[in-house]
Amino acid sequence: MMREEKRTRKPGEGGTDRKKKPFLRRKVCRFCTDKKLEIDYKNPKILRYFITERGKIIPRRISGNCAKHQREVTVAIKRARSIAILPFTTAGH
Ligand SMILES: [Zn+2]
Repeated sequence: MMREEKRTRKPGEGGTDRKKKPFLRRKVCRFCTDKKLEIDYKNPKILRYFITERGKIIPRRISGNCAKHQREVTVAIKRARSIAILPFTTAGH
């Protein structure tokens, strides 16, 4: 019972694979890609994709959003914060 297999590597994850970027990085904006996705400040599930654990808004170059939708996301997040759906950036640590 002493043997503990610590294999967290998934099959196919070789050392040669250069695709190490997090899934958030996309070439195109997900809202442009998926027309069903709506930026809705009342929908934290959507907005959570674009904030960090601390509640900060993820910058466009990381989120992969186009300028137009990033702007809408930003507005939606701020709006959501103001009605307390999403937390404000945790400050004071
Ligand atoms: Zn877009």
